[in-house]
Amino acid sequence: MPWSTVTGTRRAPRGRICDDRPVHGHNPETSEPQVDTAAAVAFTQELVRIRSVHEPGTGGTEAEAAALVEQRMREFGWDPRVEEVAPGRPNVVAVVDGGGGPGPTLMLEGHTDVVTEGDLDAWSFDPYAGDVVDGWLRGRGSADMKSGVAAMLYAAKAVVDDGPFPGRLVVAALVDEEGLMLGAKHFSASALAREVDGAICCEPEAGEVCAVSKGAVRLAVTFTGAMAHGAMPQHARNPLPVAARYLLAVEAVEADLLARHGVHAHLGEPYVTPTVVTGGDPDQVNVIPARAVVCLDIRTVPGLDHALLLQRLTDLAVTTGADAGVSAAVEVLDDRPPVDTSVDHPMVRALVAAHEDVTGARPAYGGVPGATDGTILTARAGIPTVVYGPGGKWIAHQADERVEVAEIARAARVYARAAYRYLHGEC
Ligand SMILES: [Zn+2]
Repeated sequence: MPWSTVTGTRRAPRGRICDDRPVHGHNPETSEPQVDTAAAVAFTQELVRIRSVHEPGTGGTEAEAAALVEQRMREFGWDPRVEEVAPGRPNVVAVVDGGGGPGPTLMLEGHTDVVTEGDLDAWSFDPYAGDVVDGWLRGRGSADMKSGVAAMLYAAKAVVDDGPFPGRLVVAALVDEEGLMLGAKHFSASALAREVDGAICCEPEAGEVCAVSKGAVRLAVTFTGAMAHGAMPQHARNPLPVAARYLLAVEAVEADLLARHGVHAHLGEPYVTPTVVTGGDPDQVNVIPARAVVCLDIRTVPGLDHALLLQRLTDLAVTTGADAGVSAAVEVLDDRPPVDTSVDHPMVRALVAAHEDVTGARPAYGGVPGATDGTILTARAGIPTVVYGPGGKWIAHQADERVEVAEIARAARVYARAAYRYLHGEC
């Protein structure tokens, strides 16, 4: 199971990683990478004006947005790797050596795809305007997450321009985060992924430091009995009452998970939610069907063992059907473990300190209720990940998506400062 197995061995970070010196030990006056925040905002506008929706029907892909990222990286003097993950869907990844000797490898990560604009009538402006009105940059992908991509690019440029640094920066604009996360899966399988010591995912989290993300499991449970005439139920093995009993039993499992794991400070409760129930034919009301299917969307918190939960739900399905002569088969549609990066990881400490350097205040800690590319990077390549970026948490995927220009500038400065601190061992 690739989800639960990290293959290969991670090398220990070379050079000096942040030691135990206090977070406030750095003097911000001595050296601060200078970020061209106006250029980061302008680049966000350029990216937003490209409709990078993956749409098999129209042939839409991330290609044009990826090409713009590649071009900008080349203008910076970098030599990005462009690898097609699927036709017309390239990951763009630059590896920038600091020239300052051994040190950690820090990844700044974003995605180039956006979700569809949906119903145009729901928008009060052109979704691909990329304009700035009253301090807000507007358009699909402005928050999720072209501002994050632009901010991380210009942050990395600032760190490079500031002078030699130990270690390396990996700046990655991946495809398909909004789909199956093919870009993150492709990157996770690379040799480079084994060398990354930490990744900041620049998704919109309203400036919260999110070191934890919920896990997800999706299941399809198929109950199979025997078909018969509705007049002669004694000849049937009806899966429908079994499915009903299973749904009620699953409620009890959810309550038990909550009792065992409690409410996570940043992620809330674990959920076991039935989302699909099918069985029978509305045009054949006098037929007892042979089959019923229940799908569950399960959201987990750190510490909740997916394998144990899967076994429990499978056993429950089998025993629920047994008395009625109904068999049960469980198919795992998706299995993403939760992310639980320590807030003491030097990268997280560097990010927290950088946020404080730039804003003058400690950041709030948060959690990601869904999954990001970071979930894949952690699960498949064992990379510690933290999510932090410009844009409101809830504006993603909505009509009238927008991001505050000031937030883009702030995030770019925080990324630069976090990278500087982490790579120089000042966290
Ligand atoms: Zn996103």
